[in-house]
Amino acid sequence: MNSTADVIIIGAGVHGASLAFHLAQRGVRVTLLEKTFVAAGATGRSSGLVRMHYDVKQDSELAWVSFQYFRNWKEMVGGTSTYSSSTMSLSAGCGFTRTGFLQLVAHEDVDNLKANVSMHQQIGIPVLLIKADDVRRLAPSFASDDIELAAFEPESGYAMPSDTANALIHAARDKGAKLIQDCEVTGIHIGGGKVKGAQTTQGRFDAPIVVNAAGAWADKINGMAGLNFPYATWRHDTMFVMRPKQIVNHPTVIDFANEMYFRPEGNLTLVGLEDGNPLGESPDTDTDHARPGFVERGIDRICKRIPVMENGALHSAHGGYDGITPDQHPMLGAAGPEGFYLDCGFSGTGFKTAPAVGLCMSEMILDGKSKTVDLSIYSPTRFAAGKPIVGSHPYSSIWK
Ligand SMILES: Cc1cc2nc3c(=O)[nH]c(=O)nc-3n(C[C@H](O)[C@H](O)[C@H](O)COP(=O)(O)OP(=O)(O)OC[C@H]3O[C@@H](n4cnc5c(N)ncnc54)[C@H](O)[C@@H]3O)c2cc1C
Repeated sequence: MNSTADVIIIGAGVHGASLAFHLAQRGVRVTLLEKTFVAAGATGRSSGLVRMHYDVKQDSELAWVSFQYFRNWKEMVGGTSTYSSSTMSLSAGCGFTRTGFLQLVAHEDVDNLKANVSMHQQIGIPVLLIKADDVRRLAPSFASDDIELAAFEPESGYAMPSDTANALIHAARDKGAKLIQDCEVTGIHIGGGKVKGAQTTQGRFDAPIVVNAAGAWADKINGMAGLNFPYATWRHDTMFVMRPKQIVNHPTVIDFANEMYFRPEGNLTLVGLEDGNPLGESPDTDTDHARPGFVERGIDRICKRIPVMENGALHSAHGGYDGITPDQHPMLGAAGPEGFYLDCGFSGTGFKTAPAVGLCMSEMILDGKSKTVDLSIYSPTRFAAGKPIVGSHPYSSIWK
């Protein structure tokens, strides 16, 4: 097969999907090459949290622009915008569910929390600072003695990552994009310092622009383009717990004090931990099962915040791999041979920003610069330039 496109995107996770959608929307002929199937990587394992709380302004801006998509999916992408867990009807939308989002921090981070909330409010994000009494009203089952202040985003929640990627690809294909699955990229064709296309298990595909959106596998693709950036894999396990009847529902929460996050889904609660996420493993390691010890640690942690969860029951647990960079921020932009772009390294928090990143990457590729949100801080060359990304009021790294 020898196919000609304007842009080849490697990887049909949520980021490849979002970029394909935004390029196709502007009339670009896109070919999306995926080694297995849509959302087979991190996207299919993602917890799907949709919130805007970050300590870096551009991260919050990307999350806020993306939030408009999650909230208005039908108008902005197509398909439906609601997901009914009671009927288990998987729509062609993103499955956004509004739960409200609470950011809990330890005492030493209260000043950073105040400063970051102020930054979010300047962006226009609906968020307010609340006290322990308010947390008790919102979530009566929570242990709240350690809480001084929390940030509350009433509009936030979670979405369905596989549905989101599939819906974006569906919309991209409606606009002429091609998706080729079971098609592993094995080499990048380069000539005269310019990208010419990709070699795959289904033959050669030609295009003057190739985008690496291969998630945890992106380092290998960078190597094919002659690039050697600091890039590792990051493993993350999650579990679903059946809530005891006493807890009908609760908001979505990031709980820095207990190094965990959790969110509801029907009568289940999904739990993930910030610590104990190994770096550097093969992303092809088994992800159908969580690693030994994870479930015990997760139960211990969730019971600290929600003591009555002791009466809950384990439903299921699994893992996933994302690409991670030294400052836990993505690499976005051109590097190496002319026409080669990176759209990878989302470091365990890239689902919620995917709509805006795809839009901004399409602007960068077609207009020379991203205008919706300035992506220049995410340049793949920032580490060599000694400019890692750090927030103005930083929390410690989310993943330990
Ligand atoms: C368990 C878990 C929970 C998470 N929870 C959240 C969350 O709550 N909120 C949030 O915002 N983020 C979360 N994240 C992070 C988020 O899911 C990822 O940042 C995001 O899904 C990355 O998308 P991607 O498209 O870059 O990568 P992926 O989804 O990994 O897609 C990369 C694709 O590239 C394909 N590929 C690889 N090599 C090749 C090749 N040689 N040729 C062709 N195709 C190839 C892969 O098969 C894969 O489909 C979580 C991640 C994990 C693992």
